[in-house]
Amino acid sequence: MITFSELGLREELIEAVSKLGFENPMPIQEKVIPFMLSNNRDLVALAQTGTGKTAAFGLPILNLISSETKIQSLILAPTRELCIQISNDLKNYSSLLKGIKIVPVYGGENIVSQFKQLDIPPQILVATPGRLIDLINREKVDLSEIQFLVLDEADEMLNMGFQEDLETILEYTPSSRRTLLFSATMPKEIAKIAKKYMHDAEEIAVGTRNAGADNVEHVYYMVQAANRYLALKRIVDMNPDMHGIVCCRTRQETKEVAEKLMKDGYNADALHGDLSQAQRDTVMNKFRIKNIQVLVATDVAARGLDVSNLTHVINYNLPDDVEVYTHRSGRTGRAGKKGVSCVIIHSRERNKLRDIEKIIKKEFVRKMVPTGMDVCKRQLFHMIDKMENVQVNNEEIDVFMPQISAKLSYLSKEEIISRFVSLEFNRFVDYYKDSEDINIDLKTEKTEKKKKGKKVRLKILYGFKQNATPRSVLGVINEVTQDKSIMIGDIEITNKFTFFDVFEDQADLVLEAFHREASNFKISIAEKSGNKKSSEKSDNISKSKRGDKERNRTKERDNRDYSAKNSSRKKERKPDSRKESQSRPMNNYFDEFVIDVEKPWRKKRR
Ligand code: AMP
Repeated sequence: MITFSELGLREELIEAVSKLGFENPMPIQEKVIPFMLSNNRDLVALAQTGTGKTAAFGLPILNLISSETKIQSLILAPTRELCIQISNDLKNYSSLLKGIKIVPVYGGENIVSQFKQLDIPPQILVATPGRLIDLINREKVDLSEIQFLVLDEADEMLNMGFQEDLETILEYTPSSRRTLLFSATMPKEIAKIAKKYMHDAEEIAVGTRNAGADNVEHVYYMVQAANRYLALKRIVDMNPDMHGIVCCRTRQETKEVAEKLMKDGYNADALHGDLSQAQRDTVMNKFRIKNIQVLVATDVAARGLDVSNLTHVINYNLPDDVEVYTHRSGRTGRAGKKGVSCVIIHSRERNKLRDIEKIIKKEFVRKMVPTGMDVCKRQLFHMIDKMENVQVNNEEIDVFMPQISAKLSYLSKEEIISRFVSLEFNRFVDYYKDSEDINIDLKTEKTEKKKKGKKVRLKILYGFKQNATPRSVLGVINEVTQDKSIMIGDIEITNKFTFFDVFEDQADLVLEAFHREASNFKISIAEKSGNKKSSEKSDNISKSKRGDKERNRTKERDNRDYSAKNSSRKKERKPDSRKESQSRPMNNYFDEFVIDVEKPWRKKRR
């Protein structure tokens, strides 16, 4: 095995990393360090966090810069946390070098206090793009003598909308600089930046995934979209030792899911951009020390999370961008530990899973959402395990033992055990008593759909007068239901009303959603199961006719907090749902309709 001394680094650096316990270079360091020390070319490296990339660029840069007080190296990173982490790592590596200063600058912190640190320019500046632009505009930094520019987690910086800032910053640096770009993924935009701002760059890939990715098991659970939250709770209940994150797409969803979990007695909290930096730090610290078991987070907020040994990453929704999935799942299975990345999907999303499989080069395994009985059993044995392993504090408890024994003397051993166990177990048994299997059974789902005459025609108060078009109708339905698994059939628009078909078993979902979120649309059932007679009353009829199974489902649904703040939720979700309506998955039932709508539009274009 190769050693750090063989890579050609200065003695002070070798000693410093050895003090940190680094015995041998990691693969990316083996490749990047000699490359950096032996020539003057640019570098594009495909590498994720956890591969040792900070030392891969940090050590050769520290080796090559001088102690002259000017900014010789600039490192750009997407988040404050990453900035601090990189800066601390570099400080550790350079602990034995004399006169080297490393300064991190990032948003969310008082800019004036950062000025002071820049009075005497550091040799290495680690910055987030936005704050750096601010400092450039205030003429607090001089980038004209930069020799090294590192773009770390370049894909994340673009995802966070820093492209323009990056390009501006690049323009302030001399063209003689060496540019090193690190990215976990290589979307086209990164390739473009590399082409425009880098010359004759060497490309290095260190695995396409995290060092620990082979330890990650990718599983999916398939349920109706309306049962997502129930599935989440059961997954958490089934894994009492979980320490993980739940990834949501929007801040609002993050808040809602976290609030519901807390209300339902889970040790959970939320991490999102509406929190102040101080609040975020508190939540992250609590999570780090395991005071919080389940952290519900948006993708952006989760980026700053530096917790390496998560047991689970739960994708509450599939991300729109498949590459986001690799980032999410890369948070588990690190440092040689096993991890699970779970996805909760509905049946229409299976194709998206296939796309992800191509990127992660692994297959998803379907797991069944545990039944109530499964959960109860798991919790019971978890408790027994805990009881077996509990440390008994003899000294303290011995004083009370005679009294306790006397009090319980009339109970047999079995009775004592069952009572102790019931203390905790009853909670689960009570909760899961009437719960049903929420897994989607694909076979029955298909046959259900094939059944003829199982459609319901709904009517809403929304017509040509309000400029309704089939597309806008779909937009409205998407926005109100927030459920892409609901299939919409024929749409008919009149001056005042729109009529649309849904499958009978999904009609209640639509009706409930409209009653709850958009009562002004005055939804009602126009026709049921091919019955041509229009009947406004059939809404109630359909409810009263529901069988036991459906009643159970309603009961479970009632457990959830439907009082969600509707007005604000609707407002904030607008951009999202518009996107959803365009990307709504097509199905046979739906295709027929789309062709009709698309034709006139195509003609117009020609
Ligand atoms: P990074 O990808 O830079 O975030 O590094 C991931 C982790 O690996 C950090 O905790 C580093 O301190 C650690 N690390 C980096 N290089 C080595 C090495 N050669 N040997 C052991 N640990 C390392």
